Amino acid sequence: MQLNQNLLKLEQNYLFAEIAARVRKYKEQHPDTELLSLGVNDVTRPLAPAVCNAMSAAAQEMRSAESFHGYGDVQGEYFLRSSIAGYYRSFNVCVEPEDIFVSDGAKSDLANLCDLFAPESTVLLPNPVYPVFYDTSVMAGRRILFSCGTKENGFLPMPEEQLHTDLIYLCSPNNPTGAVYSRAQLQEWVGYAHEHRALIIYDAAYEAYVRSSALPRSIFEIAGAETCAVEVNSFSKMAGFTGVRCSWMIIPRALMHSGQSLHKLWMRRQSTKYNGTSYIVQRGAAAVFSPEGQRQVRADVQYYMENADLIRNALTRSGMFTTGGEHAPYVWMECPYRMKSWDCFDGLLSRCGIAASPGVGFGGQGEGWVRFSSFGSRETIKKAAARLAAADWDALALLYMR
Ligand code: PLP
Repeated sequence: MQLNQNLLKLEQNYLFAEIAARVRKYKEQHPDTELLSLGVNDVTRPLAPAVCNAMSAAAQEMRSAESFHGYGDVQGEYFLRSSIAGYYRSFNVCVEPEDIFVSDGAKSDLANLCDLFAPESTVLLPNPVYPVFYDTSVMAGRRILFSCGTKENGFLPMPEEQLHTDLIYLCSPNNPTGAVYSRAQLQEWVGYAHEHRALIIYDAAYEAYVRSSALPRSIFEIAGAETCAVEVNSFSKMAGFTGVRCSWMIIPRALMHSGQSLHKLWMRRQSTKYNGTSYIVQRGAAAVFSPEGQRQVRADVQYYMENADLIRNALTRSGMFTTGGEHAPYVWMECPYRMKSWDCFDGLLSRCGIAASPGVGFGGQGEGWVRFSSFGSRETIKKAAARLAAADWDALALLYMR
């Protein structure tokens, strides 16, 4: 037996292990200080009542033979796919239920998508990058190119004509930088994808956080995207489904590659390797799109965005440069005095009792930046904002800059 050598190429999950180790040490040394965690990816608000009610009712249906549900439609139940299509229509994007595949999470979809492409395919990833794009590409043995996000380009890298790639990963609103592409910028990416006969894998997991109609919420707002892009989205961050698990992917039937329909290939893949998403979960997911569900989940998104405002304003008041946090639950801060990410992390932990995420953990372009997450209780975020606004950044840099 031979092991998959690509898996062995993966670095260990160093970022989260290292954060946990440093936080543990801090807690041991400061048992009386309340540690405020602004590093987490997970939501903290409970599920919306409309979702819980729908899932309870669906669970009750399972009690009797007449209304019991066994294996469902592998593509996702039609009632959910048509609700998702209706949601897209609410911001003027035309997506047919037939183009939608329901699944158990955006992370699994992003990983499983690799099944469709030859191992020798080249991928273009943004840097900083959502680690799943990178790790799944390494696991699949891909050749990886990067497009660099910088302070100058607002962490929104644009196509470079001389780079040829087969797959392009875009994430907007972005994790970790909070940056959001404009329609004109996405139009350029779509043009580039057509020129290079490449496929865009568009991660819209934070679409619900876009607060302005001037910004796009889907790649399918862009003319020509239906023949060069797939979109991954999730109920995790829009409706607190991180523990429930439900997501969707749009693969237009018009999307062809090498004379093959990617929609058909994905259907074939799913029918073999997946047996459909839980009926109970899909009923809960459909309730997200009811008028009551929308009111409730939007209130939660608003809550997180008010948290992001508190963090951003506190940092700005204390003279820090930030991006993101306006249409995304992440605030991306430049470390003062050109400090490195881990030094700044240590300073924030020791001087403020705040755990953030070191930007370098998301790729080399994140060096010198830290990410603050707004997924916390208002109480925690208010305390953190007060500590950040009062932070003595000069002393912090002096003590922790190596
Ligand atoms: N895509 C991005 C950009 C994310 O940040 C996350 C979760 O943090 C995911 C996808 C994964 O979402 P899911 O919970 O649906 O697997």
